[in-house]
Parts: sequence; C-alpha cells; structure tokens
Amino acid sequence: MRSSRRCSRNGCPRQAVATLTYVYNESTAVVGPLAAFAEPHTYDLCEPHARSLTAPRGWDVVRHEGKFEPPPPTTDDLVALAEAVREAARPVAPRPPADDQDQQQTPHTGRRGHLRVIPPTH
Ligand SMILES: [Zn+2]
Repeated sequence: MRSSRRCSRNGCPRQAVATLTYVYNESTAVVGPLAAFAEPHTYDLCEPHARSLTAPRGWDVVRHEGKFEPPPPTTDDLVALAEAVREAARPVAPRPPADDQDQQQTPHTGRRGHLRVIPPTH
C-alpha cells in the first residue's frame, strides 16, 4: 500500500512501526509508537532499527518497551480517502483571460477622450 510508512534508514525497505524523536533541549532520543503525523526532528523506524537504536554520545535513549505495532489499517484508509478527495478537488487548468477582447467589444461612450494634452497654466 503506497500510504504505508517505511523505515527512514537508508536502504531499509521495512514498514515503520516506531517514531524516533530527538528532544534536543534534553539530549534525549525517544523511540515511541509510530506518530500519527511526521514532524520535524522525527524519524520513522522499523522494529529492528527501533530496537537497535543507539543514542549519540552524551544522549539518552528512552525506548518504548512494549510491542511495536504497525499502524491500524483504518489510518491508511483515512489517508487514502483524504488523498482521493484532494485529487478530486484539484482545480482544472485556468483558461486564458479574455478581458482584453471583452473590453474592445464593449462600447465605452464618453471614455475615449479621457487622455488629453493639458496646456501649461503659466
Ligand atoms: Zn529499518
């Protein structure tokens, strides 16, 4: 399914079941259940990568100790539905403007002489 999330590690084809979040101000890497939305400083991980994650030097790792579950299928269904709705709502290509022609065909009485040479008043 194209809406399922993949592990963010290079070359890893497995499905993401966990989200790694770097909490910079606490120097902590949090490995928790898959987040509903991707946010800055978060990385989706598959179970082996989530289990084997090691923190950078000086950082702590807080790891979710329960079982990592794939996201429930209803989430994917909702995402697919939202994408379908967005697809349908996409605007069609705009038509070229026809304003110039309309103005030329519409008679504008009394407007032609609005540009005049005004003699100097001195
Ligand atoms: Zn992985």
